[in-house]
Amino acid sequence: MLELHQVHKTYATPQGPLRVLDNVSLRLAAGQSLALMGESGSGKSTLLHLAAGLDLPDQGIITLEGQNVASLPEPTRAKLRREQLGLVFQQFHLVPSLTVIDNLRLQARLAKRDDAEWSDYLIERLGLKGLEKRYPEQLSGGQQQRLAIGRALAPRPPLLLADEPTGNLDETTAGEVLELLLSLVHETQCALLIVTHSPQVAAPLDRCLRLSHGHLLEAPL
Ligand code: ADP
Ligand code: MG
Repeated sequence: MLELHQVHKTYATPQGPLRVLDNVSLRLAAGQSLALMGESGSGKSTLLHLAAGLDLPDQGIITLEGQNVASLPEPTRAKLRREQLGLVFQQFHLVPSLTVIDNLRLQARLAKRDDAEWSDYLIERLGLKGLEKRYPEQLSGGQQQRLAIGRALAPRPPLLLADEPTGNLDETTAGEVLELLLSLVHETQCALLIVTHSPQVAAPLDRCLRLSHGHLLEAPL
């Protein structure tokens, strides 16, 4: 599904090169779930960006569904992202000019996997029934993030990458949104790589890893 093999990533900064990932290897099998933890600035988002092919490593190999991401031209990488990946971020990144239902179905349409029955089901599961014609700004934060989760899962991707998906929500809403995310991931048998600070989120997942000083370590659950 997803494999990082001896990945290195260094950023150029005004203070000189900043090594963020130092020989990081990771393998995520189909249907597996993995929590990624680590201090702020430890490189969690960098790792997710590389996994999504949004950025490329300095060294090492990243394969997604058996394809070496760095060897693909960007249009092919974008197609791979559309078809194989769901992405959820801390900021919801909804399209403000599209209604709830169009936001939900956009990715699926782009991936040519739009399915009206599945999107109706998702709308209901997300608790957004009756709100299909609203615009994102007419939704609460929790509703917006539920919609972002639905959009990511609408094309039925085999892998969901989530970067602190509840970091912008209050504690109660965060709990509800996470529960929904995990239950939909389970239902769709999608693999999950989730960045989180919460041990409660990590606990029910298959594995937990921690990034520290560029190294990826197995963390006890
Ligand atoms: P995390 O998600 O764990 O908080 P990040 O992956 O966002 O960490 O960032 C890791 C480190 O790399 C931080 O010190 C951050 O400031 C730095 N960094 C992230 N992106 C860039 C960039 N594009 N250019 C330079 N430095 C960056
Ligand atoms: Mg981050």
